[in-house]
Amino acid sequence: MFSVTPIPAFSDNYIWLLKLPNSRKVAVVDPGDAAPVIRYLNDNNFELDVILITHHHYDHTDGVKELTDRYQVPVYGPHNSPFSGITHFLKEGEKLDIWGQQLTIKEIPGHTLDHISYFINGEQPQLFCGDTLFLAGCGRLFEGTPKQMLAAMTHFQSLPDNTEVYCTHEYSLANLAFAEAVEPENTDVKDAINLCSKLRNSDRPTLPTTIAQEKRINPFMRSDQVSVITAAQKFTHQTQLDQEAVFAAIREWKNQF
Ligand code: ZN
Ligand code: FE
Repeated sequence: MFSVTPIPAFSDNYIWLLKLPNSRKVAVVDPGDAAPVIRYLNDNNFELDVILITHHHYDHTDGVKELTDRYQVPVYGPHNSPFSGITHFLKEGEKLDIWGQQLTIKEIPGHTLDHISYFINGEQPQLFCGDTLFLAGCGRLFEGTPKQMLAAMTHFQSLPDNTEVYCTHEYSLANLAFAEAVEPENTDVKDAINLCSKLRNSDRPTLPTTIAQEKRINPFMRSDQVSVITAAQKFTHQTQLDQEAVFAAIREWKNQF
């Protein structure tokens, strides 16, 4: 298991920094900006060893060139990415070894077609899921279909409940406001709003979340629940909706929310 630290970037991105105890070597996930990473490395006397990319968007990749010019480290990322800075290409089911830790690659198209996640199993499982799964939300469908994103959510549901989920954006409060609109009776959503509000008021990240929490609060993980199905029926004014149609309706509602 890695110790994981957020480096804030732009207005609401987190660049996650991975490290093992007793080592100065670090990995960063989705460095959209090089400057805060370089500053963090210098301040802590850490050594950048590897870069991991989840998908091609600029806010996840724009810092790569400056970092690799400076540190000459490998850049792992999806094999089918339009981003040109990847040096080592990853595919579905592949295992990547970083300092003796195994990261399992899962292709999760939806937000983009090249999106992958990194999962580390063990006593404390950890998931780096980019812009696919957020606390109480999911990524916008820029390139993929509702069916693809629903498949990603279904996959995440199969991971251990105690998995720490490291999303790339601090969208939690906005997502929770939407989750509350979908499920006004869901007390776990209200509890999460209270907790996340406290954290944000003291300028702390609401992340990581866990798979257990997402199963309780995330409407995009709950498209098989009666309360979410009923909300989707109201939104679409239709009564016969399969799970994919429920998911698509909730996603469309969120786009307009
Ligand atoms: Zn993105
Ligand atoms: Fe992003």
